[in-house]
Amino acid sequence: MRFRAEGIVFKGLPFGEADMIMTIFTRQKGFVRAFAKSPRKTKSRFGSALEPFTYLRITLWGKENAELPKLIQADIVHPFQKLREGLECFLRVSEIFEMTSMLIPEHDQQERLFDILLNTLKMLEADCINSKAALCYKVKMLEAAGFTPRLGSCGRCGAMGRKFYFREGSVLCDDCGDQNNYFDLSLGAIRLFETLRLWDWNKLNRVVPTHSLTEELGRLIDLHIKYRIEKGLKTRDFIEKIRP
Ligand SMILES: [Zn+2]
Repeated sequence: MRFRAEGIVFKGLPFGEADMIMTIFTRQKGFVRAFAKSPRKTKSRFGSALEPFTYLRITLWGKENAELPKLIQADIVHPFQKLREGLECFLRVSEIFEMTSMLIPEHDQQERLFDILLNTLKMLEADCINSKAALCYKVKMLEAAGFTPRLGSCGRCGAMGRKFYFREGSVLCDDCGDQNNYFDLSLGAIRLFETLRLWDWNKLNRVVPTHSLTEELGRLIDLHIKYRIEKGLKTRDFIEKIRP
């Protein structure tokens, strides 16, 4: 059957002589992988549509819930070309995608997160150094993935605490924590996190945190995500499995 979707290209892996296996984050089905015939040939009908971060309208062909449907059409809605032009910007956006693809399972429909990602890419296209945009996205992405860190109170007894323990995914108070391997948080960073977590995405442009609070909370969030990913959340490598 034929299936249409909106999607953002995450990455493509070369397959055989000229084919690609594309990973695309779609509004309708979350992350999907699709087989693209000959996009690496110069006269490919896909043109530049399969460049990373390109926002597309795609048509897939395959049995319902096929593991690897065929990509038969890809029309560019917005190229997000600026995000690929500078190395620093490219790496920043790649990191966001990498984290998302590791925490959100394949075929997990995430319509709201898709819109938030699209919005974040627009903000980064206008200003790639915008560390608040990336931080807001990561907080909302963690919520969608079910890995929101607990910063509001001690994860064991509910008392106040400012020491974040990665293995707990939570702050612990001084009575509950063992004082090993924690991240000391300022009250300002905790308040900023609670605002980003609780406020609706559309209102977050009203939040104007200081540079140092954005940096501090950004560091904590990145470490928390890395810890969660290293704990084995990486999806198994599908390409390895199907390679002859
Ligand atoms: Zn406690």
